[in-house]
Amino acid sequence: AVKAEIIAVGTELLLGQITNTNARYLSQQLSYLGIDVYYQTVVGDNLNRLKQAIELASSRADVIVFSGGIGPTQDDLTKDALGEVLGRSLHIHAESMQAVEKFFEGRDKPMTENNRRQAIILENSDPLPNEAGLAVGVAISQDEKHYIVLPGPPKELQPMFENQAIPWLLEHVLTDEYPIYSKMLKFAGIGESALEDALLDLISAQTDPTIAPYAKEGEVTIRLTTKAPDEKEAMSKLKAMEAQIRERLPDYMYADQNITIEHQIIQMMTGMKLTLAAAESCTGGLVMQNLTTIPGSALVFMGGVVSYSNEMKEQILNVPHELLEGENAPGAVSEEVAEVMADQARLLLDTDFAVSVTGVAGPGSSERKPVGLVYIAIAERDRQTEVFKLNLKGNREAIRIRSAKSLMYRLWL
Ligand code: ATP
Ligand code: MG
Repeated sequence: AVKAEIIAVGTELLLGQITNTNARYLSQQLSYLGIDVYYQTVVGDNLNRLKQAIELASSRADVIVFSGGIGPTQDDLTKDALGEVLGRSLHIHAESMQAVEKFFEGRDKPMTENNRRQAIILENSDPLPNEAGLAVGVAISQDEKHYIVLPGPPKELQPMFENQAIPWLLEHVLTDEYPIYSKMLKFAGIGESALEDALLDLISAQTDPTIAPYAKEGEVTIRLTTKAPDEKEAMSKLKAMEAQIRERLPDYMYADQNITIEHQIIQMMTGMKLTLAAAESCTGGLVMQNLTTIPGSALVFMGGVVSYSNEMKEQILNVPHELLEGENAPGAVSEEVAEVMADQARLLLDTDFAVSVTGVAGPGSSERKPVGLVYIAIAERDRQTEVFKLNLKGNREAIRIRSAKSLMYRLWL
């Protein structure tokens, strides 16, 4: 099997200021590809020590993956060190330089000479475009060793690995093996650990296809991966595994491709020519933000209200004062208020559907209600409005994200 070493570059890592989550991510990803990671190295932003680390890794691994040290500053040395070890010069990659220049165009911040460093690649290397940032990655083969240089920020490193590095590895390193096929299953309304529990035996017995769950922003994704001589055989293996997973979790899967729940809803409602409005309290507009991120959402989503205060709930959404305040009032975080919010949002814009959310995101409790208590409601034209009570765990951010996702999941059902 192909042997790999991960070199995470950064003095911040050695000082314990940040956690080396990139090593964990890369190890996982490489194992899905059938590549064995033998070593994980961490080295500071120091040219000589970095060069030594590269020489050592080259002596014991076939694939060496770097994380970090490709930004604009003088302490970003990964490409310099690799260039020196491999005896290759560095030069500016024209296309990446254009991307950097375009980024600074029309901004107050002027582009500095340093920013040019982000467009540097090695002589005769393949540039790996950065979808989420400026610094271009690099892939290069020399003496039957393969080097992949990725940026430090995880939100740049991850898409670069999945969209650029994996195809490059398949083309240059994993050529003798069957091609890899994968399929994404998307879940909402269930946490990562509950999902893992339901699939525990499948996950621990996995060989082919492999099952990799990961949670991000209130959604859980399962990536199924298999190797097969052709697409037909791969798809039949993936479908069989998907069927087993669906059987375990009949309720929570909303897509068999990598799209968000909001995307799924906008597509479905566009097809059915349905319209939607929203009224949000504890999520402060997150639901509307998630919906309007989707191109074409204007056909479905008509608008909404962020009724964060009781005044706003009363004045714009006609929530009766008696529901909000007073000794026996149910309070702003209640079934009753969630229902009125959804009904009134729907009436305001005369939409087919409206959704609402009100809850305690924390950190402190409010109205003597526990953190994580959230009510979501779905109003539909000519139907009884439905209200759901949630008891969510996590910090303020997690509760807000999960409330918004749970609401969309309920709407989708
Ligand atoms: P930048 O252009 O931001 O300077 P870079 O490729 O030079 O990117 P670094 O300067 O090494 O990368 O790190 C930038 C940031 O990326 C760090 O402050 C940290 O937040 C994150 N980061 C770097 N390395 C890791 C790692 N191994 N694991 C997780 N996060 C990391
Ligand atoms: Mg940097």
